[in-house]
Amino acid sequence: MKHSVRITILVDNIVQRPRLLAEHGFAMYIETPNKRILLDTGQTGILLHNAALLDIDLRNLDAIVLSHGHYDHTGGLQQTLELASDSNLYLHPLAIKPKFSCPPNTTCRSIGMPQPAVDCLNHRSLTQKWIPTEQPTEIAPGIWNTGPNPRITQYEDTGGHFYLDHSAQIPDPLMDDQALILDAPEGLIILCGCAHSGIINILHYAVQWTGSSKIAAIIGGLHLQNASENRLYQTKLALQTFNIQKIAMAHCTGTMVAYKLREAFRDFSLCTVGDKYIFPAH
Ligand SMILES: [Zn+2]
Ligand SMILES: [Zn+2]
Repeated sequence: MKHSVRITILVDNIVQRPRLLAEHGFAMYIETPNKRILLDTGQTGILLHNAALLDIDLRNLDAIVLSHGHYDHTGGLQQTLELASDSNLYLHPLAIKPKFSCPPNTTCRSIGMPQPAVDCLNHRSLTQKWIPTEQPTEIAPGIWNTGPNPRITQYEDTGGHFYLDHSAQIPDPLMDDQALILDAPEGLIILCGCAHSGIINILHYAVQWTGSSKIAAIIGGLHLQNASENRLYQTKLALQTFNIQKIAMAHCTGTMVAYKLREAFRDFSLCTVGDKYIFPAH
């Protein structure tokens, strides 16, 4: 991919700019000269409000990619598809399955894709197919959806008490979790929703898949807020073994965690709604 890439944070937990809205959720807009892609849709549909204020026209989307099935990434799907009805849609089939969070000594909470989004997908299956991403899938030239990331590290887990049933009997390994890889002139750009696969697993896979070891940027949620000290230590060590130029942490990374990791990077930031990351063409 020789052309420029512009990435805008449309939904995040933090907002600093006036009039834009924040929520527990995530969505980002990716633009090249030829393609417009949305990764995730936030929780409630505020991405439409934020996109309008940021002069982003979601009616022209070429692709919508769902990083995984949790409600805070899929809740805006119905409203987005009402606008972008011609957009291609990419997700792992397991993203539609019911999902629960069951921390010890609490009642399980449903955290899967909200019913309107599921209905919307089922309806769409009849008319306009969505594309199942059970393996790496090219979304546009130089832009890949990883599909399920192999879990090779010993110290990474999904980052929560995630189950497929409301009795907490069947753990959810979140095999629907996937990331986007952009093969940009400055190196790979890795975009994550929550990185439930583990950011180090994702990086290993991205490097192996593309054969490129230079990482221009990691942008997105890393879901490390509940990570053990050991995991954080190992993650920090592992991140330093990759050639990473820039890291911008969002959403579920955990602010305290992000600051613990920051010293490992020259170019570190926390994402807020409306932030833009521009990677020029060479
Ligand atoms: Zn999640
Ligand atoms: Zn999330």
